[in-house]
Amino acid sequence: MEVAKWKPNQVMIRVSGWMAEHGPSLTIQKTEVVVLTAKRVDTIIPLQMGNQETVTKRAMKKATEKAANVTTALSRSMANVGGPKPSKRRLLMSVTTSILLYGAEIWADAFRIEKYSKRMADVQKLKALRVACSSRTVSEPTILVVARVIPIDLQTRKRNAQCDYGDAEKDDAYHTFFVCKRWTAHRQILEQQISNITPENIFKRMLTSAENWDRVAVHGETMLRHKKQEQSLNPP
Ligand SMILES: [Zn+2]
Repeated sequence: MEVAKWKPNQVMIRVSGWMAEHGPSLTIQKTEVVVLTAKRVDTIIPLQMGNQETVTKRAMKKATEKAANVTTALSRSMANVGGPKPSKRRLLMSVTTSILLYGAEIWADAFRIEKYSKRMADVQKLKALRVACSSRTVSEPTILVVARVIPIDLQTRKRNAQCDYGDAEKDDAYHTFFVCKRWTAHRQILEQQISNITPENIFKRMLTSAENWDRVAVHGETMLRHKKQEQSLNPP
């Protein structure tokens, strides 16, 4: 237990030290630290970042609560009778899906635990009921079909699964950065500038010069920007 508290703080000390030496600074409100643990320990941990302190939160619980609050607020503005059309309702409610799936790539495995997946499914049902203007007694599968909403667990698995560009079973940072065919041309330009990149040598390459640092940073930023744009044009 003590180790679970001590380790993340040691990591933060090292990260903050490195940041202070190299220039960039952390905004505490926007910084996210993910603690993955297989043991039953309290994951609500106070974290010291520089001279400020923050506390870790449980990602799924936080996302579910936030999505439920937004759904309730949106529902109030959409009367079942005489309110907006279903297409408009669906668009408004898509906001809650984004909230529910925030960070899903990281916590998707938690969906195997029924308690968590049920909590999310409940919020999604609430949302679907408002889209279809139906009563609460309608079963969950039925209401999702009527409201044309994809079950949240399937959406999560999709997010955590294949590469959107169809060249890998599993999409992750390693695949995007070093392997994905979509970015081969971008990667080749970078490799012409700083020579070949691998997970083992990338930091060494970046630390060779400020110019190389910027090249890798710009490369990463460009890929992520394009990927986000392309995903929004072709959502899961
Ligand atoms: Zn790919």
